[in-house]
Amino acid sequence: GRKSVKGFLRRNLFVLFTIAAVALGVILGFALRPHNLSMREIKYFSFPGELLMRMLKMLVLPLIVSSLVTGISSLDRKASGKMGVRAVVYYMVTTLIAVFIGIVIVMIIRPGRGSRDSPVVKNGNIEPIQTTDAFLDLIRNMFPPNLVEACFTQHKTVYKKIIHTRNVTVTLNLTNILNITDSHLNENLSRVLHTIQETVEETVPVSGSSAGVNALGLVVFSICFGLVIGNMKDQGQALKEFFDCLNEAIMRLVAIIIWYAPVGILFLIAGKIVEMKNLAEVGGQLGMYTVSVIVGLLIHGLFVLPLLYFVVTRRNPYSFIGGLLQALITALGTSSSSATLPITFRCLEENNHVDKRVTRFVLPVGATINMDGTALYEAVAAIFIAQVNDMDLNFGQILTISITATAASIGAAGIPQAGLVTMVIVLTSVGLPTEDITLIIAVDWFLDRLRTTTNVLGDSLGAGIVEYLSREELQNQDADLHNSVIEE
Ligand code: ASP
Repeated sequence: GRKSVKGFLRRNLFVLFTIAAVALGVILGFALRPHNLSMREIKYFSFPGELLMRMLKMLVLPLIVSSLVTGISSLDRKASGKMGVRAVVYYMVTTLIAVFIGIVIVMIIRPGRGSRDSPVVKNGNIEPIQTTDAFLDLIRNMFPPNLVEACFTQHKTVYKKIIHTRNVTVTLNLTNILNITDSHLNENLSRVLHTIQETVEETVPVSGSSAGVNALGLVVFSICFGLVIGNMKDQGQALKEFFDCLNEAIMRLVAIIIWYAPVGILFLIAGKIVEMKNLAEVGGQLGMYTVSVIVGLLIHGLFVLPLLYFVVTRRNPYSFIGGLLQALITALGTSSSSATLPITFRCLEENNHVDKRVTRFVLPVGATINMDGTALYEAVAAIFIAQVNDMDLNFGQILTISITATAASIGAAGIPQAGLVTMVIVLTSVGLPTEDITLIIAVDWFLDRLRTTTNVLGDSLGAGIVEYLSREELQNQDADLHNSVIEE
């Protein structure tokens, strides 16, 4: 009776706070909308939310490195190898299923049919990213030449336009002219080149970099580092203990920040609602597109992934998801799976009692490369844009979209709206106009939150599944540890 109610309250206090924060945020946001706050006022108003983002991001870097290094070095090589393979298979399978669901839904609903609703804003600012270069960048980012730099910057190919004429070669760095529209550029060029004939133009990829943590590079490095330390046996003990201790300390900071999380989430959500454009404008094609993405994400997150979890583990997926609520709401509030990572760790370890050796290994990798929600969205968006352009896609093109959408989701960083940027890869791979991205920008902030939530859900269920499949290795490892303690 009363005692169990009390127990329930104590256990779920944070979750209740967090849900209340979302509700309050929505109410506050809508209450403030009629006041037409200026951008500056909105910025001030959202300040507590901005602080939460900063706190969470602050922990992400040391958390990724310390958890991966300790997670991997504490497993023997065979166990970590098996676990790694299971995780990667899970990531690939679920991402492809997500893409498939997206494609089926967008083909059924056909949100882009009919002539286009809104005119395209020609946007000379979007760089002509080539699919090959994007793939190469993905691999380049796995091997950061400078680890410290990897904490701030990611590699991203930029393009130079080279114009050969009979006796001159003009090289233009396209990144420097981002603010100049294409027509401007061409006008100037043609003036310069007017009298010189026989010109040949080419666009060549050159090295460049963009702001944003290169999480992928840090993940790859930490995995290798952990493997090496694990092999060093006693010699590596000091480092192992160092990272173990670092990880423990960071998790304690998470335990403090979690008290502040509901406040931050309240203001993040309220601020966004105050800021958002009039929703009444989102009708017609864009509305149907939004519905398609939402339906796809719901099917994937609420049915397919739980079913997979149930089939593998024979446990109740929804009680597992119940333990994740706080992470899911944080993902909704921050639209960043990286920033949510600290909370995801806590939910899995404290509420769902997933083995730390698994979470430490699987979660940082998942948050970086496994994005079911993003993959689904990329596929829906690309096909939507094809429909708007009255372009019939053949089977080969749909296959190309599936592959590039998967790659784009792996390449997307776990930060707000990263998926919108990697969208360019999918579009160029099948020859769709990249400026049509402007069609979907209006609703992206909202879809971003939902896909991020799906991403975090996929990572977490994956940790549960990998733990279950690896139970034998984990038990053997426990037994080994136990024996060696007795021997001593
Ligand atoms: N915001 C997403 C995430 O952090 C990535 C995306 O834009 O799709 O998971």
